[in-house]
Amino acid sequence: MERDERRRAELAANLVQVNDRIARACEAAGRPVESVTLTAVTKTYPASDVALLAGLGITDVGENKDQEAAAKAADLTAAGVRLRWHFVGQLQRNKVKSVVSYADVIESVNSERLAEALGRATAGRAVPLDVLIQVSIDGDPARGGVIENDLWRVSDTVTSSDGLRLAGVMAVAPLGWDPDRAFERLALLAGGLAERYPGATTVSAGMSGDLEAAVRHGATHVRIGTSLLGMRNSLR
Ligand SMILES: *Cc1c(COP(=O)(O)O)cnc(C)c1O
Repeated sequence: MERDERRRAELAANLVQVNDRIARACEAAGRPVESVTLTAVTKTYPASDVALLAGLGITDVGENKDQEAAAKAADLTAAGVRLRWHFVGQLQRNKVKSVVSYADVIESVNSERLAEALGRATAGRAVPLDVLIQVSIDGDPARGGVIENDLWRVSDTVTSSDGLRLAGVMAVAPLGWDPDRAFERLALLAGGLAERYPGATTVSAGMSGDLEAAVRHGATHVRIGTSLLGMRNSLR
């Protein structure tokens, strides 16, 4: 078999397994399987893998570094492949202009200043850019998420920008936490946000190791890298 064909078969097999895990988790939770969207986190993997995944039916992809994401998005767009690009990494304000040029969703809004910079970069858009607020589940802001006390300030900043649409929250389960406890807490924060902003219903939670717990606690999007594409070489 040609290398591309082998890789396609490998990705297809992994995708069957991941979709099966999602379907079983939905069934156990009494949720329709369509209520969970799979976002393939393709960081460190080449654009050719993204193209293969798109061919296998993946619609949403996640990336965490601007330079890498911009290049892949340009490649795929040039090849006529339409995908929904999720930016899931730490976003420096000097990269905002670039990221808003290709991203369909920014999942990692974690400060008022970043929300303001995104608001300026998207002002006057016909269709607002979806953003998720990355929340800190354990209250440690050093890990990149907004702590509960700051959640209203950051969400108000997002909703006061015409170019942005507050779509919901994103979180990563803190290391060493039981994922059920983590996502239960996230569900509370997400519920509070959706009560205040009725359109903010997205809950992006769950990765290769803990997607079942995330689905149990209401995740609408799971972000899967390793189980779909394989172990990444570098820690990032
Ligand atoms: C890398 C990454 C993922 C995917 O993690 P896996 O464990 O490889 O599935 C999900 N979310 C974020 C924010 C990531 O950086």
